[in-house]
This record gives sequence, structure tokens and C-alpha cells, in this order.
Amino acid sequence: MAESKAKPCPVAGKCGGCRYTDITYEEELKKKEAYVAGLLKPYCKLSGITGMKDPTHYRNKVSAAFGLDRRGVPVSGIYEEKSHRIVPVDSCLLEDKKADEIIVTIRSLLKSFKIKVYDEDSGYGLLRHVLVRVGKTSGEIMVVLVTASPVFPSKQNFCKALRQKHPEITTIVQNINSRTDSLVLSDKENVLYGKGFIEDTLCGKTFRISARSFYQINPVQTEKLYTKAIEYAGLTGKEVVLDAYCGIGTIGIIASDKAARVISVELNKDATRDAITNSKKNNIKNLTVYTDDAGDFMEKLQADGAKVDVIFMDPPRQGSSEAFIKSLLLLKPAKVVYISCGPDTLARDLKLITKGGYKATKAECYDMFPKTEHVETVVALSRK
Ligand code: SAH
Repeated sequence: MAESKAKPCPVAGKCGGCRYTDITYEEELKKKEAYVAGLLKPYCKLSGITGMKDPTHYRNKVSAAFGLDRRGVPVSGIYEEKSHRIVPVDSCLLEDKKADEIIVTIRSLLKSFKIKVYDEDSGYGLLRHVLVRVGKTSGEIMVVLVTASPVFPSKQNFCKALRQKHPEITTIVQNINSRTDSLVLSDKENVLYGKGFIEDTLCGKTFRISARSFYQINPVQTEKLYTKAIEYAGLTGKEVVLDAYCGIGTIGIIASDKAARVISVELNKDATRDAITNSKKNNIKNLTVYTDDAGDFMEKLQADGAKVDVIFMDPPRQGSSEAFIKSLLLLKPAKVVYISCGPDTLARDLKLITKGGYKATKAECYDMFPKTEHVETVVALSRK
């Protein structure tokens, strides 16, 4: 494990992206472990935290805001915490290096193509954000150019020039976002080059990732986390498995070899479209994907008298819902594997699940987000 403290970052104080910059990685891991262990104490013992060998440049998704500095010069980088001022960032300790290089190249090409960056105050200009997604195993790279309007003069020549400098880019997408809120991507997109998505491999399965679907940002740690989650489920091949909050279908697809049947549910339509494609791509015959709110879907399952043996639940940071947990308790699966990126909401939800007749038996943390305050936890629960 890396012993050293993080190299000083020139914008550390301003950007607010990093935490724990004054302590070693080992100390950071200990802090995260102690925090989660404290929250889980009423329910079960935390067996440890798995960190990264090299906790730098792990982010496979990089998003840069484009704007003008005080002198009117185009800048790209990260919004200063709690503000809309852009802190210029050309290379970040957490982000994929190639993605950062591509963003710098895009900025350097703007002038010769007469592309104006968007100015939030006047509403004038075109380019708002650039998002780069990298398939760490496949090497595929997607660039998403977020523009304020659909009119993008010389877009083909721009893409050609960008690809000349970075032949490793496999697809370029234009996302048209004229909204004034802080949402980076809208649902309007045009594929400018390539197939409009990238693929990557996790735990031996191939996944298609679109611009807007959720995909874990740290694939190295994700593999370890999913392997543990599936181990916790103790599947024998006979179980009906529910993969709730399935995203692009990852956990259910990986578990499908060891289950009789998998039901996957997710709210985001783009993600479920990817989940269906991913299921087909991996030649999986025992998995069905539903687009629905996980809580509503559970209520319907329960009302239909469905039988579910194992539930994987991987909700967003705000945790699961009371409706979901209420139906879970009525469905009475033998096992629940809770994967959480929000320790506080995990503890809140564990309280309800354990009160309802379950016992948390094992838990482990995975550091998916080194040098940030976030940490992922997987908990195994069995019916008492
Ligand atoms: N299990 C996936 C995704 C986890 S992230 C993976 O490991 O890749 C959480 C997912 O929950 C996101 O894909 C998000 O779109 C989805 N989500 C958020 N609220 C939801 C809800 N109410 N019902 C169903 N899915 C929801």
C-alpha cells in the first residue's frame, strides 16, 4: 500500500475535490474504517477496509466545466465548492490522466474552430462541459461535448482534429443542454463519431456504458466489491435473485451464472436500456430488467406474491426508501446484501431492516473513492 502522503496539488485548497491531503493513505483508510465501524456497531462488526495499491488517477469518468475567467479567457476545470466559479484544473490526482489530457486538448482547439465557451451570466456561447469516460480494461474512450444549443458549426472538422491528436478516442457525443440548473447532461444527444457508447469488462462480463448511465467510477475496487457482494449472497444456483438499483445491470449479470433467475430493477431508462443490451451481450438467459422505482416495484412484486430468495440492494447515496424496506420485509428473502455508498443512510436503513427480522452478519468496506470523504460498504443480512 502506498505509504506516502499525496503529492501537493496546486489547487487543493480551492477546488475542494480532495480530502485527507495532510495524512497518509493508511491513516485515511483507518479513519474511514473507524467511522463506518462506529455506525455499524449496533448491527454487526466491520471486518476491515480494502484500500487501493495506488490510490491515484482512479476515476474513469472526468467532467470539466468550461467558462471564461475574469479576463475573458476560456478556462476548464472544477467548480469551486458551493459556487459556480471554475477553478482551472489541467491535471488532477484522482482523475484518469488520458481523460485530463483530452480535456486540455479540447480547450486548446477552441480558438482555431471559433468555438465560444458558454458564459453563465450572459447565456452566450456554446461549450458548457466536457465529460470523458474511459473503459479501463477495453481502452475505449468516450468524449461528451455538452453544448448550450444544437447548432455546432464545424463539428465534424472539430471531431476530426480532436481524433487526430487522440486516436484513442472511440466515440464522441454531443449533449445539448440549454437548462439553467446544475444538471450537466440533458436527455438530448447526437452521436458525432463512433457508436455513442463504450464498453468495459468487470468480473469477466462485458458492459456497455452510455453517456448518462451510472457506472462505478473506480473499476479496480468495483471488482473487489462485487466479488465480495456475490460471496456474501452464498448463491447455489437455485435462488431467485433481485438486483435492486441495478444501474447498467452489473451485479445481477455477474450473479446470473450462480442463480436460477435474476430480476433487475432500475429507475433510469438509459441505464435499463444498457442493462438489457448487457444481458444479451453476455448471452444471459435468466435475467429480466424492469424500469421502475425500486420501492414501487417491490410493492408490486409483493402484491403479486412473488418469491425472492436473495436481494442485492445498491441504492444511491440517499439510501433506500421506507416503501422499499417495508416490501422487503414482507417478501422475506433469506438473504439481503446491502451495498452502500452512504454510511449514514446505510445505518438508518439497517435499523429498519434489522428491526423487521433480519440480522446483519458480515460487513466490509471498500475504498472506492481515495482522497475523498466517501467510502463504500457491503453488508450481509440473513433472516433470523
Ligand atoms: N448497482 C449499480 C448501480 C448503483 S448506483 C452498480 O453497481 O453499478 C444507484 C442506482 O440507483 C443508479 O443507477 C440510479 O439511477 C438508481 N436509482 C436511484 N433512485 C432509484 C429508485 N428510486 N429506484 C430505482 N433505481 C434508482
